[in-house]
Amino acid sequence: MENKYVLISGAGIAGTALAYWVKRFGFNPTIVEVAPALRQGGYAIDFWGSGFEVSDRMGIVPALSRADLGISEVSFVDADNRRKAAMNYAKLKQMMNGRAFTLLRSDLARIIYEHLDDDIDIIFGDTVTGIVQHSDRVAVQFRNSKTRDFDLVIGADGLHSVVRNLVFGDEARYEKFYGFYTASFTVKHNFSNGKEFLIYNVPGKQAAIYSIDENTSAAFFIFAVEGKLAYDHHDLAAQKQLLRDEFAGVGWKCADILARMDDAPDFYFDVVSQVQMDNWSQDRVSLVGDACDCPSLLSGQGSTLAIVGAYILAGELKNANGNYRQAFAEYQRIFKPFLDEKQRLARNFAASLVPKSSFGIWLRNKTVNLMFLPFVSKLFIKQFLDHKLELKKY
Ligand SMILES: Cc1cc2nc3c(=O)[nH]c(=O)nc-3n(C[C@H](O)[C@H](O)[C@H](O)COP(=O)(O)OP(=O)(O)OC[C@H]3O[C@@H](n4cnc5c(N)ncnc54)[C@H](O)[C@@H]3O)c2cc1C
Repeated sequence: MENKYVLISGAGIAGTALAYWVKRFGFNPTIVEVAPALRQGGYAIDFWGSGFEVSDRMGIVPALSRADLGISEVSFVDADNRRKAAMNYAKLKQMMNGRAFTLLRSDLARIIYEHLDDDIDIIFGDTVTGIVQHSDRVAVQFRNSKTRDFDLVIGADGLHSVVRNLVFGDEARYEKFYGFYTASFTVKHNFSNGKEFLIYNVPGKQAAIYSIDENTSAAFFIFAVEGKLAYDHHDLAAQKQLLRDEFAGVGWKCADILARMDDAPDFYFDVVSQVQMDNWSQDRVSLVGDACDCPSLLSGQGSTLAIVGAYILAGELKNANGNYRQAFAEYQRIFKPFLDEKQRLARNFAASLVPKSSFGIWLRNKTVNLMFLPFVSKLFIKQFLDHKLELKKY
């Protein structure tokens, strides 16, 4: 095996999954994560399809099952919290033979992390600041640690990937903004009835809340904008104020939820964007997960695609005995067409997720209510959730 020393930037879903698989296939991964500990994300993800299949191969399905939030119903409500439309989520998951979970993103990353080999080197609280490629190695500079050589460097550091910025150029070249911002955080209060995911819309805005446990709820906001907002990305207080301004006076439970936002330990605010690149690799450096192919939350599949991408990248490195040129080319050949299609579907879905008019909200509710018909549910699963990627056994 050639090129065994692999630096992975990012301990999210793609980074931890990649470390798991390359280690299992005989490589020596090192992970560098900018946060001082595993990042806590106060939002839930739906996780199914090929991602479920990969996690089954990792043996983590029982742990994921324990972390499942048990959401049984998704309800679309009006300002007085009266239900206008509902989707029987438990039934939808049954139709997928139970091979679907709704869990916190941070729980998925933590569970993969807990299944990593003890001897994997993990550096928290540091980041790559420079990458110099040589014919036989990559010299990597860090903010806090000494420069080190690796055989390969993989950017698994998300939508705003530093590896992508350093090697492939500015984010603006690859980021496609789709006119929405999102925010999420957890609050110490039980806002929903048991296992109901409550969603409230006014034109161009959506607020949602669901319980994580008896005392904690997770809030999720999304809103449409004409153009990108100007704000300091490090200034959480300014981001919270933007959110407050957007949702001032919209009704429902918004004021109460936002009043509790200052105590949230995990406030998240970002653009809803996709990352679109023609080439995911340059010499000894490659990318995986949101860093190269972020489909955005509009797809509801970013985590699934991150774990699958990591599996294929690791598997192709194994198949090529570490010949990175062959492996990186094969990884992209197998996976990119699948991803391009997921990104296309996600873009089409944007208008239904956050309708921009009262008529659009009414129409969305009518459509959701048709989901009680089995053939409509099947059509929905086929259209949005079915994954057709045949995964190799590496
Ligand atoms: C509100 C919301 C809802 C979503 N819902 C769903 C859903 O229902 N289903 C679904 O499948 N997906 C969903 N997604 C998408 C999903 O969360 C992402 O696609 C997925 O987390 C991508 O994994 P990743 O490992 O590539 O990136 P991330 O999970 O973002 O992880 C990147 C990691 O890199 C670290 N990092 C960042 N910069 C650096 C640096 N300079 N150096 C070192 N480390 C760094 C970060 O701290 C983080 O740990 C949702 C996303 C959002 C925002």
